[in-house]
Amino acid sequence: MNLVFLGPPGSGKGTQAVRLAKNKGIVHLSTGDLLREAVKNGTELGKKADGYMKAGDLVPDSLIVGLIEDKIAAGDLKSGFILDGFPRTVPQAESLNEMLQKNEITLEKAVLIAVSDNEIVQRLSGRWFCPTCQVTYNYPANVPKNEGVCDHDGAKLVRRPDDEEKVVRNRLEVYKKQTQPIEDFYRNESILAEVKGEQTPDNVFKSILEVVG
Ligand code: AMP
Repeated sequence: MNLVFLGPPGSGKGTQAVRLAKNKGIVHLSTGDLLREAVKNGTELGKKADGYMKAGDLVPDSLIVGLIEDKIAAGDLKSGFILDGFPRTVPQAESLNEMLQKNEITLEKAVLIAVSDNEIVQRLSGRWFCPTCQVTYNYPANVPKNEGVCDHDGAKLVRRPDDEEKVVRNRLEVYKKQTQPIEDFYRNESILAEVKGEQTPDNVFKSILEVVG
């Protein structure tokens, strides 16, 4: 099963992608996670990506396409995958098609998790996570038992710097201008499957299972 997950920031695509990858025994590849790791480790890629990420802008296509190319060349995607956060622009989607064709891999579906703007700003500005175990909390829907600390290990909760409201609004704008055209790209290829993201996480997951089969 080879899939791309699409959706605005905060649509829950990361959470759902992890869950589906486990359920199907396939690889979950998040370019956001790879970039955050590169920033944390202070690699060349991380140094180049840091400023764009802090502002909520996209990292240049050339940096990202190379990352995915390396994963394909290493054979990491051979037994099925979910790409989460890639592609983010039409040129990235075109590059992905070329890379997959070269390696005789077929993309089966692009799963779009649709969520309204207001819901997204509310969700992201209330999103906190545990830096130790990575569990995510959301105010007001899913709050920790003790204000500001993780239920599992007592670590002090932190937020992603790009979840500040101003940056969230920019990320949404960027999504609309640069990423949303990909929906038509995959619609034209007849592989776009849309799922309603404003349901409980369990019901979103059920809807995803229905469309991916
Ligand atoms: P995410 O965790 O998917 O929300 O990604 C966090 C940030 O990483 C984005 O706001 C971008 O700055 C950068 N990023 C992640 N994936 C891509 C991509 N495919 N193209 C360009 N920038 C990306």
